[in-house]
Amino acid sequence: MNGTLLIVATPIGNLEDITLRALRVLKEVDLIACEDTRKTRKLLSHYGIRQKRLVSFFEANERRRVPEIVDCLSQGKDVALVSNAGTPGISDPGYRLIEELAHLGDFPLSIVPGPCALVSSLVISGLPTDSFFFKGFLPRRPGRKKKELHSLKDYKATIIFYESPYRLKITLSDIREIFGERRVAVVKELTKKFERVYRGSASEVLEAIDNEKVLKGEYVIIVGK
Ligand code: SAM
Repeated sequence: MNGTLLIVATPIGNLEDITLRALRVLKEVDLIACEDTRKTRKLLSHYGIRQKRLVSFFEANERRRVPEIVDCLSQGKDVALVSNAGTPGISDPGYRLIEELAHLGDFPLSIVPGPCALVSSLVISGLPTDSFFFKGFLPRRPGRKKKELHSLKDYKATIIFYESPYRLKITLSDIREIFGERRVAVVKELTKKFERVYRGSASEVLEAIDNEKVLKGEYVIIVGK
């Protein structure tokens, strides 16, 4: 019988945000496929899980690793898939493997749900949650980015973007230019020491962020519908 691929969500900051099932699964599986073995080892050792077999699984080696993991599952071994933070497959490696197993059909898949920055940010933002669109990271090139933003402008849903601190201000300026004064929230460092949510129009949020000395950390931008 084929082994099961268990897709395991891990904390997005606060290490206490891990489920009992996730810990049991990480303890029991034969192999853990992880984005960064050092990061996962840290998490495992925090919970006293030692001597696990880990294999790296990141964007650049995903294509090569998929057949290796399928082979391992074919031998009846259970494999956990984790990313550095949050839910694998959401702006993180995992999709290619999950798609392949779903396509092959006879490999059991199981999800171990938990933290995901997009859901937590949306909920804490105070913006409408009844219909939303997750864009993830926008293209880096300014022209393509603006084109993408224009294509979302008339979409009647709250829109969620992941963004790096280096591009936060410029993306907010683009949002102000393209979306006008729609309500915006910038969610920073959720579940961590410097967790903060800025709310207001794009101009108000930009002004508040301008007062910050250093922009670092992890950010989600949410545009209300
Ligand atoms: N798979 C992850 C998830 O489930 O949310 C997302 C991984 S993606 C590579 C990393 C991006 O997620 C960051 O650039 C940021 O936009 C968002 N993110 C992750 N952790 C966060 C946190 N603690 N606070 C705010 N945003 C976070």
